[in-house]
Amino acid sequence: MNNAKDTFNKIKVLIVGSGIIGKSNAFKLSEYGFDVTLVDQDEIHNSSHAALGILMGKIYQKRKGRSWILRQKSSELWPKWINILQTYNPNLKIEKPLYQLTNDQKKFNKLIGFANNYLYDGLEILEGNSNILDPINKIFKGNKLQGIISRQDGRINPKVLLETLNIALKSKNIKTINNQIIKIKKNNTKWNLLLKTGEILISEIVILCNSLDSLKLINPEIYDIKLKPVLGQAVEIFHEEKNIDFLSLPKLLNINGKNLITLSENKIIIGSTDEYKFKPEESYLNELFEFLEHKPNWLDKKNITRKWFGIRSRPEGEPSPLLKSLEKGLILCSGFYKNGILLAPACSHWVSEEIKKHI
Ligand SMILES: Cc1cc2nc3c(=O)[nH]c(=O)nc-3n(C[C@H](O)[C@H](O)[C@H](O)COP(=O)(O)OP(=O)(O)OC[C@H]3O[C@@H](n4cnc5c(N)ncnc54)[C@H](O)[C@@H]3O)c2cc1C
Repeated sequence: MNNAKDTFNKIKVLIVGSGIIGKSNAFKLSEYGFDVTLVDQDEIHNSSHAALGILMGKIYQKRKGRSWILRQKSSELWPKWINILQTYNPNLKIEKPLYQLTNDQKKFNKLIGFANNYLYDGLEILEGNSNILDPINKIFKGNKLQGIISRQDGRINPKVLLETLNIALKSKNIKTINNQIIKIKKNNTKWNLLLKTGEILISEIVILCNSLDSLKLINPEIYDIKLKPVLGQAVEIFHEEKNIDFLSLPKLLNINGKNLITLSENKIIIGSTDEYKFKPEESYLNELFEFLEHKPNWLDKKNITRKWFGIRSRPEGEPSPLLKSLEKGLILCSGFYKNGILLAPACSHWVSEEIKKHI
């Protein structure tokens, strides 16, 4: 026996859910030689496809606790993952940097204090008189934005990422099944998973990566775990104003808590809302147009060319995400709320270590 592959290559792992978390786990576990199968009923209409892909690692102000440790781990792992994944798709990249701006002086003062403490993390302060802010303040006229630049944070285009993982998983012969798991049951040492079409899959290890619906597959009398749906809407807008060129803006902006991604001279993406429900509401959509003190003309609902939403899952009564061993051979990996794209490598790293306890 010369490596982990020899140890694990006959062990069957079934991953329920093929969003970013399911796919990342499959990708990581395939490195160890597990016999991995991914099952998903509808992987196109999930939260991962709706995401903006912003990676808020170093810009996160709470610098202690599990959430920070996971962010730190992912910030360290993402460049390594991108290097490997580029062998499957050279177009995959992390766009940097990320600008965090505000027109609230109190919030700016807080940002100054934060950045001064962590300048070595690639944080840079942008005071009102900085030339860098000129094109930004021209497009967001009258708002006097100030803030910080995080040189190590950025964005991965989620659709390109998911496509790339699909190519990687295919080349590693990971099996994918387009179906819904409706029940899981332990039978001696193995798990039986009942598909909606009636077939039964048998596996030694099951990893639940199916977000909100993971709770439908575990016994509520044994596990007191709660997840809330948090719907997020996002829009793409297109303007026809002569003097506005979005390309003069930094590619990635977070202004007063809203993320903006410039796509072209005329197009920009704005997201996202936080709605504790399953259906998108117009009143929340308005928030994507009302996050500035002075609203520029181009920032208008009539300019929407595309809008979409996704449903994130947020743990209730405990922090996000839920990374738990439930019982022998059953691992829960859910509740990623707003940071599933950011945290995917750190989560997969956790699973690849945790899974050894189940063998
Ligand atoms: C508008 C918006 C913007 C966002 N922006 C960002 C961002 O900038 N940065 C960031 O890091 N995160 C962002 N997120 C959050 C991110 O999208 C989520 O945290 C992440 O996608 C969660 O991934 P997941 O794989 O856990 O869940 P999902 O992508 O929802 O995947 C779960 C999968 O499980 C499948 N499934 C469910 N039940 C079953 C079953 N019984 N059998 C088989 N399959 C099943 C579903 O079909 C689905 O494909 C955003 C989310 C939204 C909505």
